[in-house]
Amino acid sequence: MEIVGRTDCGRLRERNEDSVGFDEALGIAVVADGMGGLHHGHLASREAVAAVLDHLRRARPPLNDAALEAALAAANERVFVSSQSAASVMGTTAVVLAMSEGLGRIAHVGDSRAYLYHDGELRQLTRDHSMVQEMVDRGLIGAEAARRSPSRNVITRALGLDAAFEPDVAEVALVPGDLLLLCSDGLWDMLDDGRISALLSDARRGRKGLGRCADDLVAAANEAGGLDNITVVLARAS
Ligand code: CA
Repeated sequence: MEIVGRTDCGRLRERNEDSVGFDEALGIAVVADGMGGLHHGHLASREAVAAVLDHLRRARPPLNDAALEAALAAANERVFVSSQSAASVMGTTAVVLAMSEGLGRIAHVGDSRAYLYHDGELRQLTRDHSMVQEMVDRGLIGAEAARRSPSRNVITRALGLDAAFEPDVAEVALVPGDLLLLCSDGLWDMLDDGRISALLSDARRGRKGLGRCADDLVAAANEAGGLDNITVVLARAS
């Protein structure tokens, strides 16, 4: 398997509060999008990524649902303790991937997403923990209205805010060549599914390297406005 990661400040924000980390040998990756005053958003996302990687590197294989949940619990604890000692509210989203032969496992909190690109089709694997997603689920607004809603960035779950947290875990069957995309909202808010699919199709067919494809996704989000920090992980199943 092959994994690449990119993070970019975007064109509008002064600071990059996203963080990314991965370990190709273990098939693990994590994207986090932090929030908090001053530099605390960055601190929260960086600590969450470090805690997840530390935990999964020490975990006994296989990396099952319980291992991913425990990694997120470790991240929650680390960010929560930091926020107590900094006397500042800070939190972060996190989406974690653990990939093994034929299987991808995803755990997430917040609105950082995972997608599968299989056979020319892009499928979102995570459901945002956000106010607009709840409104869509209750039938109050449609998907298009959700994309344009001014409150689309309001999340309902995060790591580090509380001693308790609630992750969702999902798994997906993989065939060789399948691509998994993890990203912060700075990517999916700027690019619709059609645009993301088009950019992934060249990598799927092997016409473009994974790193180049990740660079192109970031560049496209910046060209579309770059209103927020942009973070991308691409993983190819083997
Ligand atoms: Ca963001």
